[in-house]
Amino acid sequence: MTIRCTRNSNSLSANNIRFSAVAEVKYVFVTGGVTSSLGKGIISASLAKLLQARGYSVTIQKLDPYINIDPGTLNPYEHGECYVTVDGAETDLDLGHYERFLNVHTTQVNNVTTGRIYQSVINKERRGDYLGKTVQVIPHITDEIKRRIKIVGSGGNYEIVITEIGGTVGDIESLPYIEAVRQMRWEMGPRNCVVIHLTLVPFLQASGELKTKPTQHSVKMLLEDGIQPDVLVLRTEHPLNEDLRKKVALFCNVEPGAVVESIDVTTIYEVPLMMQKEKLDLTVLRKLGLPQGEEPSLSEWKEFLHKLKNPAHQVKIALVGKYVELADAYKSISESFIHAGAANETAVEMAMIHSEEITDANYGTMLDGYDGIVVAPGFGERGIEGKILAANYARKNDIPFLGICFGMQCAVIEFARNVLGLEGAHSAEINPKTKHPVIDLMEEQKSIAVKGGTMRLGSYKCELLHGTKAWECYRKDEISERHRHRYEFNNKYITDFRNAGMIASGTNPESGLVEIIEIPSHRWFVGVQFHAEYSSTVIKPHPLFIGFVRACISK
Ligand code: GLN
Repeated sequence: MTIRCTRNSNSLSANNIRFSAVAEVKYVFVTGGVTSSLGKGIISASLAKLLQARGYSVTIQKLDPYINIDPGTLNPYEHGECYVTVDGAETDLDLGHYERFLNVHTTQVNNVTTGRIYQSVINKERRGDYLGKTVQVIPHITDEIKRRIKIVGSGGNYEIVITEIGGTVGDIESLPYIEAVRQMRWEMGPRNCVVIHLTLVPFLQASGELKTKPTQHSVKMLLEDGIQPDVLVLRTEHPLNEDLRKKVALFCNVEPGAVVESIDVTTIYEVPLMMQKEKLDLTVLRKLGLPQGEEPSLSEWKEFLHKLKNPAHQVKIALVGKYVELADAYKSISESFIHAGAANETAVEMAMIHSEEITDANYGTMLDGYDGIVVAPGFGERGIEGKILAANYARKNDIPFLGICFGMQCAVIEFARNVLGLEGAHSAEINPKTKHPVIDLMEEQKSIAVKGGTMRLGSYKCELLHGTKAWECYRKDEISERHRHRYEFNNKYITDFRNAGMIASGTNPESGLVEIIEIPSHRWFVGVQFHAEYSSTVIKPHPLFIGFVRACISK
């Protein structure tokens, strides 16, 4: 049964869609071939955006083939930033793209790893659920994968679930996922399960040619696993001509219209428009047997792109962190600045500054010339003194400052040492024996010994103080933001800080935990214990980032 929903084509929020009956969920799988980093996440998010703009309720799920239960225990150098959902899941950074594109929250079920799959199966085995049976990859692991895929759409909230399979076809660890997709297609039929395969068409400089062989081989590999892809998205640096598309279609056994070009673009936010031109959404809807509805206007999206490409101002912001070698380590922060920049019609240039390289001797020159300074989140001792110096430089020179999580904690330590004169003040995370633990372990963390998934995670409420910079940004008395930390501002010092000029402008109404600090006498000095960057989207840039960029412009 195909169900149509009452559509609102201008709506950018799936929440506005009303089902006329319980929807039958259709599945789209996105696999990758030839090489990693081709942008499966962006293609998935772009397709979802187009389907959403046509009135469908869509969500995206990422299946990650590694054995960690979630990326929360991974060093950002390994896998980029760890993204956090409102319900407290530590997830792959692709979920950030999904939220930024769709403006809809993802949850615990949107990211599943091999570790999590095996954990469930092993727990069931111990409970005796398979009593008498040999537990195997097929059917037990593949059944658990299918269950995790189907759970996403089971609440009746979505008509289409797009599931992105991490890794590259041919990887040993992806095999059970590919097999699960094969089984789902076999069980539900190709009209309910469409497979999009993303590959690379390399350009050989020497012969001046685009080569399709890697794509052919990668499709062959999928075929060996029992999957004939329905749509091929070809990542390329040069336009693909008709002959090449026909050749790929013929050799890979797909319709000529189902060979889609994905050419390099200057910003990921152009990809939905590019996919619209390539009719990826229409091809998928046709294959799923769903009506196309109205052509999406994407007017707000285009307006954002227009502002992004035609800035009236420019600011230079220093991002001080210790994972700066890897751009993906601060993905959500950089994207938030793209959104907030466009909202302010401002080109935001980000300079990544390694906190380990900032010293007492050089910090004046290293941080000179920026319109704003951001101190990034982080863990552990490495590079912390550089972050504290960056907060000091911003405070003393009246430079707009935004400290995020660890960045906020560094600003507190700096203020304690240099304004309150508390010598050796520190975070108990770095120096558990400090005489002045101005940042201390949260009470509920004291009994926790296990590392994975045990931080203060997900959304918590925060009450804002009127007349503060934070309130000016949000213009609300109560907000809710996402967290990922174990340490907190030590409330024993709150009066001393307030008397010396640093206030808590946001606090959690239940626990009294300090969520935001600021210096009222400064041009714009705000530190947040939460991760504002996780909730900035194209359509709803984050108010704090907007306010910070505005302060940078006025400087
Ligand atoms: N390491 C700090 C804590 O656990 C800050 C964490 C972060 O920046 N995400 O509290």
